[in-house]
Parts: sequence; structure tokens; C-alpha cells
Amino acid sequence: MPQLSEPGYENELRKLSQVKIHLRQIHADGLHLEGEEECPILDLAAEDFRCTGPLRYALDLGVSEGALWATGSLAQPVELRCVRCLEPFPFEIGTKAFSVHLDLTGPELVDLTPYVREDILLNLPAHPHCDREGGRVCPAAKSTTAGIPAPEGKDQRQPDWSVLDKLKLKR
Ligand SMILES: [Zn+2]
Repeated sequence: MPQLSEPGYENELRKLSQVKIHLRQIHADGLHLEGEEECPILDLAAEDFRCTGPLRYALDLGVSEGALWATGSLAQPVELRCVRCLEPFPFEIGTKAFSVHLDLTGPELVDLTPYVREDILLNLPAHPHCDREGGRVCPAAKSTTAGIPAPEGKDQRQPDWSVLDKLKLKR
């Protein structure tokens, strides 16, 4: 089994900077930024997920007509917990369509961290399944199909009918 946790990793992260861009860095032909940053959702990490590495980003930036735009890709390795078998499994929150357009109002330093964070959170699976997101066979799904016989389709639809009955009663 691959060892995911690296001791001292979170301490190592605190030394890294944030995705802050000085506008003077951006010239007329734009700016390409690539690198690694502290996991932007490190503070939210709990039992259902944790960061297992830094955020990797590749962004193209430009300034035009008083606005800053940034497009590119983000990749955040995490460890999720399968809601079915409760086992942790590795996952990479990735987006190739990160896009931000900001009106420049004053400060010369623009911090993209909140936007990166929002994008990563949006792509974080809410109910992760290790077979769906992790690409493996879920031990819980396996034991269910092998041990307990699957209920008939009729029985599965039962709750829907009871809901309908309640609706009828209300009328
Ligand atoms: Zn599972």
C-alpha cells in the first residue's frame, strides 16, 4: 500500500508563499506563472479529506483595460475518505479551466489565492466513492453484492410510492 502521509509536510508548506502577483510583473505580452503553493484548503482539512501535497498551478496572466485576467490549470493532490467503505484513497482535484477576471481598483498586488481556493473547493467531491473517484474496486461495494442479496427493483421503489401517498393525503 502506498504511504501517502509525509511527516512534516504541513510545516514545509508554511514556508511557501501565496499566489500573489505584482502588477508590474505583467508586461504587455502577458505573464506565464508556474509553480507550487501551499494547499489553499489546508485549514478546511478534516476527517473527510486532507491535503497530501502542494497545489500545482500553471497560469497565464494579462492586464487589459483596467482588468486582470488569469487562466490556466490547477492540481491539488488530496486524500479523500470513501463514504461507503470509509477507507482513505488518493485523489487529485484538478481543473484545466481556471479562469478569473478582476477589475483593478487600486492595490498593485493582486492575491489570487481566494479564487484558487474557491475553484479547488468547487471541484472537491462532496460524497467521494473510492471506485468512482479513486478508480479502484470499493471493498464495501464488493461485500454488499457478494453477501447480502440485492433487493428487487420493486422494493427499491417502495419509498417513492409512500411519498406519493402522503402527497395525496394532503390534498
Ligand atoms: Zn470505498
